[in-house]
Amino acid sequence: MADAAAIRRLLFAMADAVIAKKDYLCEVDAGIGDGDHGIGMAQSFTKAKERLSASPAADIAGALKAFGTGVMSGGGGASGALFSGIYLEGAKVMAGKTDMTPADLAAWWRAGLESVKARGRAQPGDKTMVDALEPAVLAMEANAGAGFAAQLAKAAEAADAGVEATKNMVAGQGRSRYAGERSLGRQDAGATSVAILVRVLGEIIRE
Ligand code: ADP
Ligand code: MG
Repeated sequence: MADAAAIRRLLFAMADAVIAKKDYLCEVDAGIGDGDHGIGMAQSFTKAKERLSASPAADIAGALKAFGTGVMSGGGGASGALFSGIYLEGAKVMAGKTDMTPADLAAWWRAGLESVKARGRAQPGDKTMVDALEPAVLAMEANAGAGFAAQLAKAAEAADAGVEATKNMVAGQGRSRYAGERSLGRQDAGATSVAILVRVLGEIIRE
């Protein structure tokens, strides 16, 4: 089961994971974008940790809302607003719940995906974070009956495969679309962040 304490551990661990990869995420973004993705993510998720620390301990939805508000206000470029949606939608899905099931988790990330697509207007194949997020969500949904361990292992595999697939895409949304053919052979930065976040789910959330 994943209670409020587990969700808080999860959120702090997600923030620490992207903050630790700051330089790597900038390097990946430098290949096709403007090289600031790691800086933006680190700022956003540092702010998210601050907001989470100040939120009530027993409230899952409140923790997700505080965290998402921090991500949004951290100044993390185009992607800060998009990533914040994942957590703010999670707050809506988890409203009033004291425990998160694998089905809740899939519903949370589905709502997050839909908010990213609605705000960013990127479709699968545009070489954005959607290309890691959508396969991860499909894997979460398909494996929601298998328990967290299997569900989240499949989701992490799907996200990694999604990142790999972005190497063969020419960017259609975001700053990297200006790179055109130059973006071929390079993976997308936002998709890389999604894969890092999804991997943390499997490391922290247990049966
Ligand atoms: P910026 O583009 O402002 O420099 P970042 O460098 O932080 O923002 O993030 C770049 C990442 O954001 C891209 O690699 C891509 O995954 C994601 N992204 C950018 N625009 C969109 C969009 N419209 N829809 C979905 N994802 C997007
Ligand atoms: Mg950038």
